[in-house]
Amino acid sequence: MTALPTIPHWIEGAEVVADDARTAPVFDPALGREIRRAALASETEVDRAVETAHTAYLTWRNVSLAKRTAILFRFRELLNERKGELAEIITEEHGKVIDDALGEIARGQEVVEYACGITSHLRGHFSEQVSTGYDIHSVRQPIGVAAIISPFNFPAMVPMWFFPIAIAAGNSVVVKPSEKNPSAAIWIAKLWKEAGLPDGVYTVVNGDKVAVDALLTHEKVASVSFVGSTPIAQYVYETGTKHGKRVQALGGAKNHMLVLPDADLDLVADSAINAGFGSAGERCMAISVVVAVEPVADALIDKIVERMQQLKVGDGRRGTDMGPLVTEAHRDKVASYIDIAAGDGATVVVDGRGIEVDGDEAGFWLGPTLLDRVPTSSRAYTEEIFGPVLSVVRVQSFDEGLELINNGAFGNGTAVFTNDGGAARRFQNEVQVGMIGVNVPIPVPIAAYSFGGWKQSIFGDTKAHGDEGVKFFTAQKAITTRWLDPSHGGINLGFPQND
Ligand code: NAD
Repeated sequence: MTALPTIPHWIEGAEVVADDARTAPVFDPALGREIRRAALASETEVDRAVETAHTAYLTWRNVSLAKRTAILFRFRELLNERKGELAEIITEEHGKVIDDALGEIARGQEVVEYACGITSHLRGHFSEQVSTGYDIHSVRQPIGVAAIISPFNFPAMVPMWFFPIAIAAGNSVVVKPSEKNPSAAIWIAKLWKEAGLPDGVYTVVNGDKVAVDALLTHEKVASVSFVGSTPIAQYVYETGTKHGKRVQALGGAKNHMLVLPDADLDLVADSAINAGFGSAGERCMAISVVVAVEPVADALIDKIVERMQQLKVGDGRRGTDMGPLVTEAHRDKVASYIDIAAGDGATVVVDGRGIEVDGDEAGFWLGPTLLDRVPTSSRAYTEEIFGPVLSVVRVQSFDEGLELINNGAFGNGTAVFTNDGGAARRFQNEVQVGMIGVNVPIPVPIAAYSFGGWKQSIFGDTKAHGDEGVKFFTAQKAITTRWLDPSHGGINLGFPQND
């Protein structure tokens, strides 16, 4: 049997893999087959990656903004031209359908475009004559090596929430992608090289907890941007801050859609399908709970079921609507929540297990599943499922629905569906969630705004991209200046006073 290829690291502008490297399997989830191995970095390899990134930073920080943005523009153009290649890689290792992979690239590209305007984003302030003969101004400077640790569900977009701004601001980055699908990060590395980015400014280390821990504790890592499940986000935040790093750690989610009785139920049903089953529910902004304010639940469920019957599940390269789950273990975990819900008294309206698919039968399939009357005490309600399982919870009033959402542990995204502007306004004002849609099911903010939730969905106070991203990757200095004119008053040993 021929050995499977190993996905290397990317250090100093070249592929690197040790002969005796530990490795982990990378699957094509639609074929249910291992196709590659991911190298898992040792502490020594991470140390080398960070040292080379730090050396590159010392030069890159002094490259002019004009030269930096010229490289960013080139990167943007190459990405736009060649995004089809990247989408194929994402679909091959993640399973999401090609259109969805192109969608995540487009959202990442938006951040690259935002970072192309870094000269404006870095503008400081200047106040003249704050004291007689004194001026003050502020600047924002890069902070050093930025570590970016990303999850499996957006192999391109999530790293792109961070690295364009970090690099544009004069930092170097070390990306540690999910070991489940690391090829996208390496493809992006080659694109940066083609765009003219100096070696070492964009580095990739593949790995698991060993690599993460080495980054969190390395003295030359200045910041950590993490996205993943809540327990790991909390661990990363606590460990990173204890070691003096700036940390932003985005965690898991359980997003509710509140449906008021006056809502357009066709729009709601379409939105529930798109937001519940797009990317097989493996999105941190997926809707996982429809909170139906009675009497709409029965009519809404009928409309959702009608649409579910039309969904084509199968290999994402074959023009299907929904692909497989990322691994067999994850598929089995997601499917186990169907039994948990049923055991707790929920009605399984549509069961996605054993569904017929347009794809290899060995793939990690689970069809769209709909659960009704899910008790809020059930683990199927309280825990993040992260798969194509949509739950309906019935409530009697707006207030009951709002309270339910606010009692949840997570606070990533939510949506309200209504034609009542007053109800929508109250919802956006009172709901304890970071990203809110009004008749919009997946309210992912554009790049100029910042992405991030509340409560257990984020650790640290800074969100991704937009103003908060620029602030995270820079440190501010305030500089007070006096230039003596020929009429200065000579020696004065008194304590300086503002006059
Ligand atoms: P995960 O937490 O398993 O992995 C995320 C990263 O942490 C990976 O790079 C992984 O290698 C690393 N990691 C895993 N175990 C670790 C450990 N014990 N110690 C240190 N590092 C470890 O998450 P996942 O399964 O890859 O991604 C899905 C999760 O990500 C979901 O919970 C989803 O909600 C969340 N997510 C959140 C957002 C957001 O913006 N809030 C966005 C995307 C995904």
